[in-house]
Amino acid sequence: MKSIRLRPGRERSLLRRHPWVFEGGVERGKADAGETVRVEASDGRFLAWAAYSPASAIRLRAWSYDESERIDASLFERRIAKAVEARARLGIDSDAMRLVHGEADGLPGLVVDRYADVLCVQFGAAGVERWKGAIVDALAARCGVHRIYERSDVSVRALEGLDPRTGWLLGDGATDVEIREHAWRLRVDLAHGHKTGFYLDQRENRRRFADLVRQRRVRQVLNAYSYTGGFSVAALAGGAEHVTSVDSSAPALERAIEHVALNGYDPARHQARDADVNRTLREALTGGQRWDAIVLDPPKLAPTAAHAERAARAYKDVNRLALGALTPGGLLLTFSCSGGIGVELFHKIVAGAAVDAGVDGAIVERLGAAPDHPMTLFFPEGEYLKGLAIVKA
Ligand code: SAH
Repeated sequence: MKSIRLRPGRERSLLRRHPWVFEGGVERGKADAGETVRVEASDGRFLAWAAYSPASAIRLRAWSYDESERIDASLFERRIAKAVEARARLGIDSDAMRLVHGEADGLPGLVVDRYADVLCVQFGAAGVERWKGAIVDALAARCGVHRIYERSDVSVRALEGLDPRTGWLLGDGATDVEIREHAWRLRVDLAHGHKTGFYLDQRENRRRFADLVRQRRVRQVLNAYSYTGGFSVAALAGGAEHVTSVDSSAPALERAIEHVALNGYDPARHQARDADVNRTLREALTGGQRWDAIVLDPPKLAPTAAHAERAARAYKDVNRLALGALTPGGLLLTFSCSGGIGVELFHKIVAGAAVDAGVDGAIVERLGAAPDHPMTLFFPEGEYLKGLAIVKA
């Protein structure tokens, strides 16, 4: 077993159970991509077993802080079993959920999503890439599935020196899967959809939106950045008269149209617009169009804190426009999935947008990622999705 010696003082993050060591923290030692190494402090004392990633700025990702724990196939079986059991206790009202959420489940770089009887898996780091065979075996055994699809086409793979790869790891067949979320039927394209196919992290917020639409007797809804229309179906389920879905992806909008029909709603109650959200809102403001509720769920504008400033301006612009385009008493559900923008900063951005729009409002709820995307005490990067439900004065 190779050893990696850290620079003095650089043992701190591992001692705090944060699983990453950056390249600058390494004093000496080298290993192959994904190889298990013994990480030691500058005085030689054991800190962790970790996966080495020679191409990545995140040079080490810890598997275990227990010197007696062996890093072998059984470790992956245990971690996967624990992650799957934890989901079973959450009472999730869907047959689609995140079973493994990377670092939070002790499996850095691994994402496993269940869509009905199919798993869709992402290997985003050299460590989990190296253990792919053991991981696939453990998933098949633990989840009782016969089909596992790989969506390792995330951009972080390049940072790890790994080529993108997609395709079946187990079984084969159609990559289009129907799932049930709450009472709704939705279709997920595992091969071409965003992420592993769907935004599972918004599941509880879609449910909550349906409730708020019903309680507040919302009539006209704008679902901005709609993707395949999950929030649009929620709005119709909540009794909205009409929903407009806006997205810049034509295939996503086709799906949104399909979802309205699949759930038995009159297609006349829904309009799909292939357009830029900012532009749509600007046109609405000048044309006098208003909505009783708007969902704003933009793509990740600030992947890291380094992008935060420019992203903050973009978030502020779109929130200002949306607040302006709401009827008095209207409801805004606004989100940021940027890891680089924290809860407090997001609040400030939206408050600034309200000042610029000249509107007052009350925060009626704070929203986050669904519980199958857990956060741990030790890995703050795990908190990425945040949202506010605001009622305009
Ligand atoms: N709320 C959705 C997920 C939204 S993801 C759900 O619950 O499923 C963000 C979406 O924004 C993507 O579908 C992407 O195609 C779209 N998008 C990105 N930039 C855009 C823009 N400038 N205008 C409109 N849509 C955009």
